[in-house]
Amino acid sequence: MKNVVVFTGAGVSAESGISTFRDHGGLWEKYKFEDVATTEAWIRQPKIVLEFYNARRKEVIQAKPNRAHELISKLQSYFNTWVITQNIDNLHERAGSKNVMHLHGEIMKSKSSINPNIIYDVKNGEIKWGDLCELGSQIRPHVVWFGEEVPLMPLALQKVSEADILIITGTSLQVYPAAGIIFNANKNCEIFLIDPGEVSTHSPIKINRIKEKAGKGMEMLFEKLKLD
Ligand code: NAD
Repeated sequence: MKNVVVFTGAGVSAESGISTFRDHGGLWEKYKFEDVATTEAWIRQPKIVLEFYNARRKEVIQAKPNRAHELISKLQSYFNTWVITQNIDNLHERAGSKNVMHLHGEIMKSKSSINPNIIYDVKNGEIKWGDLCELGSQIRPHVVWFGEEVPLMPLALQKVSEADILIITGTSLQVYPAAGIIFNANKNCEIFLIDPGEVSTHSPIKINRIKEKAGKGMEMLFEKLKLD
């Protein structure tokens, strides 16, 4: 079986009703990222940060996987597939994808604020101020904030370097180090980029561009690859 890596971003969940960050109407028009998605914000105003992620979690619980998530999951029937996502939602898993790597964490989980290896499922959809880990410190969302390390990056780069086909969808490729993943593709890798917007890649390898939303674009890709 060929190795396929699907690299996804916020746009793949847009058709499920979850806001992207940078698009018109996106979250960064309503919030400043430095107020809710940085360690400084967590130190300065932890209750606001918890509220922001509790609201995001509520959206995720109400959302359903869309056609793109379904087709991405279907790739497993044909290929040895890895989904590397920048998304913190769980829609890939809910659509049936098995090998999912969440580079930026998972909204449905929390972690200790003093030991990142202590991870819990979020119960009742909310993390409250005063919810403590077993070491007695406040728990925080299990997400990677701007400026924090991306611990899964080495594994992601390895999977991309082994890929015969790399499918990139729903990402503006502006958030590093995740966006740099494309440069790890080997020279024989076939790359497809599905996104309705303008995305610049600077990739030395030829990119097959499908300028469509993720659902329609994935359907077109299935036709191109002669999958049913
Ligand atoms: P981004 O907001 O920077 O870019 C979104 C991209 O999606 C754009 O290129 C846009 O053209 C494209 N897009 C919009 N609608 C689309 C559709 N229907 N189909 C396909 N593409 C569509 O998002 P990013 O590149 O993922 O980076 C932002 C960061 O925000 C990531 O780290 C991610 O973790 C986080 N984020 C996650 C979620 C989520 O978990 N669902 C939501 C918002 C942001």
